[in-house]
Order: sequence, then structure tokens, then C-alpha cells
Amino acid sequence: MLKVKVDLGKRSYAIIIGRGILKQLGVFLKELNIGTHAFIITNNFLKNKYGAKISSVLSRANFDFRFEVVLDSEKSKSIQTATMVIRDLAKFNKKKKVFIIAFGGGVVGDLAGFVASVYKRGTSYVQIPTTLLAQVDSAIGGKTALDLDLAKNLVGSFYQPRLVFSDIDFLRSLNEEQLCSGMAEVIKYALIKDKKLFNYLENKYQEIIKGDPAALEKIVGSCSNIKARITSSDEKEVLGQRTILNFGHTIGHAIEAAGGYRKYNHGQAVSLGMIAAVELSRGLKLIDEKLAVRIGSLLKFYGLPSRLKGVPLDRIIKAHYHDKKFSGEENKFVLICGIGKTKIVRNVSLFLIKESIRKLDS
Ligand code: NAD
Repeated sequence: MLKVKVDLGKRSYAIIIGRGILKQLGVFLKELNIGTHAFIITNNFLKNKYGAKISSVLSRANFDFRFEVVLDSEKSKSIQTATMVIRDLAKFNKKKKVFIIAFGGGVVGDLAGFVASVYKRGTSYVQIPTTLLAQVDSAIGGKTALDLDLAKNLVGSFYQPRLVFSDIDFLRSLNEEQLCSGMAEVIKYALIKDKKLFNYLENKYQEIIKGDPAALEKIVGSCSNIKARITSSDEKEVLGQRTILNFGHTIGHAIEAAGGYRKYNHGQAVSLGMIAAVELSRGLKLIDEKLAVRIGSLLKFYGLPSRLKGVPLDRIIKAHYHDKKFSGEENKFVLICGIGKTKIVRNVSLFLIKESIRKLDS
């Protein structure tokens, strides 16, 4: 079992990573002393698959609980769903000391985190991430979010969980597409911060793609460490350090929104966004063609798309203006100048942005 600390003074918390650790969840929750009644936000698939196990672990530790099931879709990150969940939470909460558990992937995590941040001006919550993407990224760092039809993640808050509990065994039931979606964020970490991890991903892709638990545990550990360090040094993305986590996300989010959140899942859209960011880096002579090709090949190894299909360029351009890194006419892109080395570039010309997206279409 590996323990990584997110160091935020009084709001510090642990990320626990291991295989088959669910049975120890009760001990960790007891130690936190955050309540007696757990309000578990999840979806139907996860409740059916793991609900009995979670129930038995919580009952043995003398916690009372209730499952709150939301639709298994990005659409659950909506103001309507959040309102429904908050109403149910208020009914459950009568005369009880309640805490929230986010049990699921990034969708459930972002929604549950948001609900926790606003219910009674802040209620304790715990992340139990069940996808690779959520274990390496979305469950850590306290960014909570809802989408509007205009763009993704437009509504949200910074609100840290009290614990992140990543049992690698949950990843066994992911299909290849879901695993590969998480690999997009893993490759992002390697590109922005960790050359060794990049080499590991190149050398071990056969084991990783088959879901080898030891390899996944190593990956989740490495990425959790990077995210914990970055979050600890720049919790609210005001000092610049945290910005680099958005590598590939400016265009990625725009592609996701322009495709109506159906065409590409988050990891696939981030993969395309990273190719565009690599193309911009190459266009600005920060990296050479050879490295750009090597990165493209790694994304392909993991079944991630490098070509855009059926999403019009003008819709992507329109959506990308909603990105939070745009302020007025100014834009800000995270680019790379080598593996593990980033550079923030401001005011990239619209011509170059369009060219980098157009390249995805060729
Ligand atoms: P998701 O939550 O939609 O999960 C993907 C699919 O996997 C769903 O169908 C889900 O039911 C299924 N699933 C979950 N756990 C499973 C398991 N153990 N076995 C089998 N199937 C399982 O998507 P995601 O990829 O986990 O997360 C994407 C979301 O995360 C996006 O909304 C994105 O914006 C958000 N995100 C947030 C942050 C952050 O910092 N808050 C960072 C990155 C991404």
C-alpha cells in the first residue's frame, strides 16, 4: 500500500493506493472522524457491480449509508442533477452527521465534489475513484465541476476531499476504451513532468494495455505523486504551476464540447488536444519533428485517436473561446519544449491554433 500526501496545511489529505485494499476502507474512514452516515453518490452500473462489497465494508465498520444513483453519463455533471442530489441529501441528512462518498469515475467525482462544496457551505467528502482517469487525475486536487451546454466545467469550485482511496482492483472491470481514456492523462503527466514515466509507457505498453495490476499500480502511484506535488504548491491555479496540468486540455475540451460529449470521451479528446499542442510546440520550434512523431506513436499504442473525424473546425474554434485560460482576447497555451519540460505561451495567433487543429483533420 502506498500513501501519498497532498500537503495543504489544515486541509491536507492522503491518497491511499493499493491492490485489494477496499476491505480496509472502514479503518481509514473511522480515523477521519467526519460522520456516521455516508451518502454514496454513484451510478447504476457501479452500484450493481460493487454496491454489495461497499455495503458490507461500511456495515462492518458501523457506518450507516445510502446510495444516490445518477445517470451514467457526462450529462450528470449538470445543475439539474446537482439540484436533485442536494435535495435527496437534505432529506437523508435529518438529524444525522453525514459525509459524502464519490464512488465512480470523473463524472461522479466532479459532481459529488461540487455537491459537497455547496451543501451547507461545505460538507466532508471522500473520493473512491474507480476509473484509471479518476485515480490518476480527477479524484485528486479538489477541482469540482458541472457543465453548461455552452462548454464543459464552466461551473465549479476548489474543494478538497478528506481522503482519496484508490483500489487498483476496481480497474479490472474497465473495458479497453475506458482504460485507454485514462492513459491519455497518464501520457500527459509523462509529457509535462516525467521522462522516466514516458520511457516506461513506451517499454511496457503490452502489459499496461492488458491491465497488468502491478504496472497500473506503478502508474497510479507516479501520477498521484505528480498531481499531489503540483496541487500542494498551487492549489487554486494562481501561481502558474498547476496550469501545466491543462496540457492538451484547451483544444481537448473544445473538441469534447464541439462533439456534443458523445463523439469522443474525455481521454480521446485530450489525446487530440495533446496532438494539437504538440503541433503548436513544433510550429513554434520548441520541439523537433522527430519528437512530435514519437509522441503521436505513443498515443496510438494506447489506442488513442490522432485524427479528428466529423467535428467541424469552426465549432471547435467557437468552443475553445470558453476555455478558462482565455481572458478577454488573451489566450494562454501549455506547450512542451522536451519530454517533461513545459512552457506557457501567451497570445498564440488564431492562425497557428487553426493550423494545429486543421492538421488533426488531414
Ligand atoms: P466516467 O466517470 O464517465 O467513467 C467512464 C465510464 O466508465 C462510465 O461509463 C462508468 O460507469 C464506467 N466505470 C467507472 N468505473 C468503472 C469500473 N471500475 N469498471 C467498469 N466501468 C467503470 O469518465 P472518466 O473518464 O472517469 O472521467 C471523465 C470526467 O472527468 C470528465 O467529465 C472530465 O471533465 C473529468 N475530469 C475532471 C478532472 C478534475 O480535476 N476534476 C480531471 C480530469 C477529468
